[in-house]
Amino acid sequence: MKKAIITGISGQDGSYLSELLLSKGYDVYGFVRRESFENSSERLKNLKNILSEIKLVPISITDSLSIHKAISKIMPDELYHLAAQSFVSYDMTDEINIMNINFNSTLYIANTIKEVIPGCRMFFAGSSEMFGNPEISPQAEGAKFNPKSIYGIAKVSSYYLLKNYRSNCNMFFSTGIMYNHESSRRGNQFVTKKVISTAVKIKLGELKKLELGNLEAYRDWGYAPDYVNAMWMILQQDISEDYVIATGKLHSVRELVRIVFNYLRMDYKEHVLVDKKFYRPSEKIPLSGNCEKLKSIGWRHSKTFHEIIKEMIDEEIKNMKA
Ligand code: GDP
Repeated sequence: MKKAIITGISGQDGSYLSELLLSKGYDVYGFVRRESFENSSERLKNLKNILSEIKLVPISITDSLSIHKAISKIMPDELYHLAAQSFVSYDMTDEINIMNINFNSTLYIANTIKEVIPGCRMFFAGSSEMFGNPEISPQAEGAKFNPKSIYGIAKVSSYYLLKNYRSNCNMFFSTGIMYNHESSRRGNQFVTKKVISTAVKIKLGELKKLELGNLEAYRDWGYAPDYVNAMWMILQQDISEDYVIATGKLHSVRELVRIVFNYLRMDYKEHVLVDKKFYRPSEKIPLSGNCEKLKSIGWRHSKTFHEIIKEMIDEEIKNMKA
């Protein structure tokens, strides 16, 4: 039986990946913050159906010694490093903490694998924020990085770190450069979830207005379960390489809003207010990924943007009734 460690197991991707690996017969270990065990019904809610099938290890991802000990004890075949401080801000606040969580953790894990279990394969969750302000669109694997947030800088730094372990120490460390990916387990601060949960509350008469930033912002939105499938596929290849994980299709926030309100039989123009406080620095060239390389190893996405949004709305309504 193969053993896998997932850092960030309680998040959207970690929970879907756990389900996928369990279905493939893996022994699944998850690193979680100690605090997750307090108020666990909220913090571990994505894992509620599989809690008895996985092993959770309370650990701080910034504690090199604990990481070393835990990996040495488990001796995994594969490690998926998904843990990150994942909300992107562009104002250079909290930079030490973000680099510590998002970069040092990668260094500690990579170093332990090299020293203790060099045959272990690692997937690292990179991000379209590595391209930041891109010069071309769509971006493929060779496009120039131009991060504009500490989050993006930490991801680019981790990417280069792992690439060097790969070429200099022959490690199987691969980065997936992941564009936005959504599901009903998406955090409330992300725009898809924010629009859907607020619109459902408006429909139920609990709220009147939805305040948003730039409606003309474009994103390449995919389906989270498809993206964790890509992570697994990337680690099953003969050669360790990096891949863009994206759909290559762009949609605007306005389109998202229109689909959600139409589905709930409301007119978005009666409820949506634009507030400059939600605006981000403008993007001249949009972040859209070229996923041809990933397709060449057999990956396909299973749902269209419309289908993802509809599933999220149906789940939101179901969870409200539950
Ligand atoms: P990320 O910024 O790509 O990590 O993902 P988000 O889901 O937070 O944002 C996606 C896009 O929606 C960005 O281009 C935002 O500028 C845009 N957006 C517009 N209004 C809002 C809003 O009220 N909240 C958020 N989070 N994003 C918004």
